[in-house]
Amino acid sequence: MGHPTPGTTEAADVVVVGGGNAGYCAAHAAALRGRRVMLIERAPAAEAGGNSFFTAGAIRMTHDGVPDLQDIIEPDERLARTEVPPYPARQFRDDMERTTSGRCDPQLTGVLIAESAAAVRWLKSLGVSFRLMYERQAYLRPDASYLFWGGLAVGAVGGGQGLVAAHRRIAARLGVAVRYERCGVALRRDGTRVSGVRWTGPDGTGGLVEAAAVVLAAGGFEAAAGMRREYLGEGWQHAKVRGTPLNDGRMLRAALDAGAARAGDWSTAHSVAWDAGAPPFGDRTLTNRLTRQSYPLGIVVNRDGVRFVDEGADFRNYTYARYGADILRQPGSVAYQIFDAATRPLLRPEEYDSPGVSEHVAATIPDLAARCGVDADGLGRTVAEFNAAVRRDVPFDPTVKDGRSAALSPPKSNWANPIETPPFYAYPVTCGVTFTFGGLRADQNARVVDESGTVIPGLYVCGEMLGGLFSGNYPGGSGLTSGLVFGRRAGSAAAADSA
Ligand SMILES: Cc1cc2nc3c(=O)[nH]c(=O)nc-3n(C[C@H](O)[C@H](O)[C@H](O)COP(=O)(O)OP(=O)(O)OC[C@H]3O[C@@H](n4cnc5c(N)ncnc54)[C@H](O)[C@@H]3O)c2cc1C
Repeated sequence: MGHPTPGTTEAADVVVVGGGNAGYCAAHAAALRGRRVMLIERAPAAEAGGNSFFTAGAIRMTHDGVPDLQDIIEPDERLARTEVPPYPARQFRDDMERTTSGRCDPQLTGVLIAESAAAVRWLKSLGVSFRLMYERQAYLRPDASYLFWGGLAVGAVGGGQGLVAAHRRIAARLGVAVRYERCGVALRRDGTRVSGVRWTGPDGTGGLVEAAAVVLAAGGFEAAAGMRREYLGEGWQHAKVRGTPLNDGRMLRAALDAGAARAGDWSTAHSVAWDAGAPPFGDRTLTNRLTRQSYPLGIVVNRDGVRFVDEGADFRNYTYARYGADILRQPGSVAYQIFDAATRPLLRPEEYDSPGVSEHVAATIPDLAARCGVDADGLGRTVAEFNAAVRRDVPFDPTVKDGRSAALSPPKSNWANPIETPPFYAYPVTCGVTFTFGGLRADQNARVVDESGTVIPGLYVCGEMLGGLFSGNYPGGSGLTSGLVFGRRAGSAAAADSA
């Protein structure tokens, strides 16, 4: 494949639409099978990488503890003092079923779990480095050992930025032709078979890539305010977007136009507590640091000073992806995470000590309320009731679900510490949407099917565009796993299709 000339028709064996984690995994898998692969990405090179660029790089996978992970992770002097509880397939499945209220597709979920570890090892063999995420997923115990929690331990070195840089290096080495500033707009069809992608460029140019197989990896519709309102509901148009502004759902629409069926939950999305002062779309310097994930250690109130979620219902990995929607529903779509001086040192430094963090500090609760514009009587009452309800007889332990609760409505089920030591801290947060859960229907080999369940020849899907895995909530770190497992499958199957 030579250098592209806009407006012309080019040929590849496999064309991948979208250059995030899923698209690159598909491209690598097809290239490894000797196919001519072209990946088209609508962003310019300097802004590429999709949502995958903004991630912490955390990847959920099954494993059997530290000895089992040693061939994947970089050496670390802390390893001898580290406990990573095994994460068997059964637990991954329980987590998927619990977080999605049983709505995860059983076949796709089975593949996701069964191949998670092998797929991480595959990526490692290609040149992506991994490490244990001490700063996010472990607590230092009094005896100077580390205990990991929440079923999530492994992350890409350099986070999402490191992951995307590694993907780009691997693709170059494997001979994948990556073409930036090409926005896929429609699928070309020969009868029922999909045989290429039409694209447009920034200056009105356009072209066609003909291919025996097309892999769709262009993200969900989280960045399209109109589609969010249409499918997620009124108010969602106001959510801030945590990542790329380019995942606008147009390839989802193109696939539906070509006869693809929908799958999964089009009415919910992954959304989190996000700095209320954040820009409308992701910040490529701060990336994931605008998230505020230490809420299980404090309380969260709305503008009236009233609590509205169980902050300690579970480890944050199992609640954070649904609490954004709860914040969106509050007056002004804003909430405040409240901590005192005793708890403040336990908050994640990468987030709460981030440059430009929105933060209010005061010596008294009424003063704190005044500084952040929260109803002072409401906040005073909430804090007093909360402090009185804390089970002080149960020891606080952030490494386990400690049962140190406050029996209120809503309850705080774990990690309830009284808010009584000045100074007091408030972090204003709003809803940050991460990605949408609805997507296209596909079989276990990522082959897209129509409403009758018949495979649409030549069409594959992976990453956020694949529907059926998540609904309402999700276990943290599963998005990258999904892109990895089904991207690899899509690329392999597309390569076989184009042989
Ligand atoms: C701040 C943040 C933190 C996160 N942290 C984690 C984490 O630690 N672990 C985890 O598992 N998940 C995390 N996620 C979720 C994760 O980003 C996604 O699940 C995953 O990266 C999606 O991969 P993808 O390849 O499907 O999409 P993306 O990485 O978004 O890639 C899609 C690509 O398609 C391109 N594109 C869109 N439309 C077109 C078109 N029409 N034509 C051509 N190209 C197009 C986009 O520009 C983009 O580059 C996080 C997300 C965000 C925003």
